[in-house]
Amino acid sequence: MVTAAALRCPAPTTAATTTPTTTPTTTPTIDGAAVRDLLRSVHDPEIPTISIVDLGIVESVAITNDGIEIELLPTFVGCPALDIIRGAVLEALVPLGRPTTVEFTWRVPWTSSRISPLGRERLAASGFAPPAEPADVRCPYCASARVAMDSAFGPTQCRSLFYCRDCRQPFEAFKPV
Ligand SMILES: [Zn+2]
Repeated sequence: MVTAAALRCPAPTTAATTTPTTTPTTTPTIDGAAVRDLLRSVHDPEIPTISIVDLGIVESVAITNDGIEIELLPTFVGCPALDIIRGAVLEALVPLGRPTTVEFTWRVPWTSSRISPLGRERLAASGFAPPAEPADVRCPYCASARVAMDSAFGPTQCRSLFYCRDCRQPFEAFKPV
């Protein structure tokens, strides 16, 4: 609740609880871990169950005098989600109060081996097979290799539909890059 007293106060020009020892514009120190923590709230719209951190697409986090520079790896070339992810990353880092740039880099290829163990668990729990060559796709429900591709054209260009011959579950597999 805003009190009348608060309304009469002029806006403070420096933070009241900290005493900056360098320049008055310096905000509290942030590190890569804090940035990555915030990035855990950002999800690939194609894979809403795991964060972009667990998906392994956060290639680098750099904190410079100019702000925060994030490098992401596109998981699926041609997926329309990149701009959405970029926007979500920028939004997630707003609380840090630093200028932030988000770049996609193709310098390092993203591979499914970058998905964290937690990410793999969550993918499987949601009925998604992690990206693999069609011959290597396993059923996320029963781990059977007796799977058949139903259609190379899944709900999006990033996914394929499969069918498990053992547990008879249909599931989606992410196409490898
Ligand atoms: Zn199965």
